[in-house]
Amino acid sequence: MSAAPDVLVVGGGVVGSAVAWWLAREGVSVTLLERGELAAGASGAAAGMLAPIGEDAGRGGPLLHAGLRALAGMDALCEELRERSGIDPEWRRSGILRVARDDAEAARLQAQASARPELGLELGWLDGAALRAEEPLVALGVRGALLSPREGHVRSPLLARAFARAAASLGARVETGVAVRALVRDAGGVVRGARTAAGDLPAGLVVLCAGVWTGALAGAAGAGEASDRALPIEPVRGQILSLDAPLPTLRSIVWGGSTYLVPKGDGTIVVGATEERVGFDCRVTAAGLRGLLDAAPRLVPALAGCTFRGAWAGLRPSAPDHLPLVGAWPGTIGLFVAAGHHRNGVLLASVTGEIVAGLVLGKDVPPCARDFAPARFGPTGSAA
Ligand SMILES: Cc1cc2nc3c(=O)[nH]c(=O)nc-3n(C[C@H](O)[C@H](O)[C@H](O)COP(=O)(O)OP(=O)(O)OC[C@H]3O[C@@H](n4cnc5c(N)ncnc54)[C@H](O)[C@@H]3O)c2cc1C
Repeated sequence: MSAAPDVLVVGGGVVGSAVAWWLAREGVSVTLLERGELAAGASGAAAGMLAPIGEDAGRGGPLLHAGLRALAGMDALCEELRERSGIDPEWRRSGILRVARDDAEAARLQAQASARPELGLELGWLDGAALRAEEPLVALGVRGALLSPREGHVRSPLLARAFARAAASLGARVETGVAVRALVRDAGGVVRGARTAAGDLPAGLVVLCAGVWTGALAGAAGAGEASDRALPIEPVRGQILSLDAPLPTLRSIVWGGSTYLVPKGDGTIVVGATEERVGFDCRVTAAGLRGLLDAAPRLVPALAGCTFRGAWAGLRPSAPDHLPLVGAWPGTIGLFVAAGHHRNGVLLASVTGEIVAGLVLGKDVPPCARDFAPARFGPTGSAA
């Protein structure tokens, strides 16, 4: 390998690719290494929703604020990525209907419709008749829905590839099929690069964006003796499937309880997702599929007759507080991390890149950067 980059990004999921893009856009020399293909991990499995309020419009805090920032920037970001990369991430501001399956849910969602005008999401309540006028396929028993017209979805693998190719168009080196085996450290413990089968690659800074494999990679690399334990990132399996869409299909995402239906541009509906703590087991199970296949027609009965297209699973990287870890690795000079985005990595990829680039260049960073700082799990951190 040749010339040392300023920054070496490890992991070509949506997060690592976004970090590479933001750095390249700021004129930083960057190399992105991915051991498989781009979006080989969770980013290849995701439903791709950009849904800052998640399952509950009552949610607040840094995740909400970071998500709203990401959502606000989506039109301009996707246009820029399309121009730079020639890849369309298929961003659709489809809106999300969070449906009420009983009176208690209806009361809760109806209250949320008018509670948060400051979010700028233009939330509104649709009663049963208005809901069925909007989405005739929704089940008759559904009481109504919270309409959130500004949320939407992308094709997550396309977003990752668009970030990476756009970064490459600005001079970044993007190498797939190259696994990082260890970090290279000097006698003082400062990280000076990464070790691969092809040799050592020196770098001014290494950013670990290896999803659920981040802790193991740091541990194997000897990044600060206890630091892999100090940055707890656990895998949370998500199983998800796709069906041929009924015709005419849904226009909006329909979300009821823990099940969501995302109508994609290729004529499919993605049905997600399970949330399971089963370690690094990324298999699809009969029980997982049965749960999704039972739940989907309860929201949209026509789905029961639709052709099954396929199913897959991914491992969400999750910290105990469900906030991402973005910034300097506590106690190790020359090492950053951007991982642990749990259910929001697609949504928060761009904001994560913005934070890393800001920290690297000493520029202003979004306010959520403080809440996402890995130091909260360090020896003296508040969440340690
Ligand atoms: C079923 C499911 C549905 C989801 N739906 C959504 C959604 O609708 N919206 C949303 O925002 N989020 C969603 N998520 C969450 C989202 O997918 C993740 O938060 C996000 O993809 C994490 O991205 P990442 O780049 O950190 O990790 P990953 O995508 O896992 O990428 C890590 C990469 O690092 C590489 N790597 C690992 N070790 C090494 C090494 N030693 N050397 C080189 N490369 C290495 C891996 O091959 C991998 O490509 C969903 C997740 C799942 C599983």
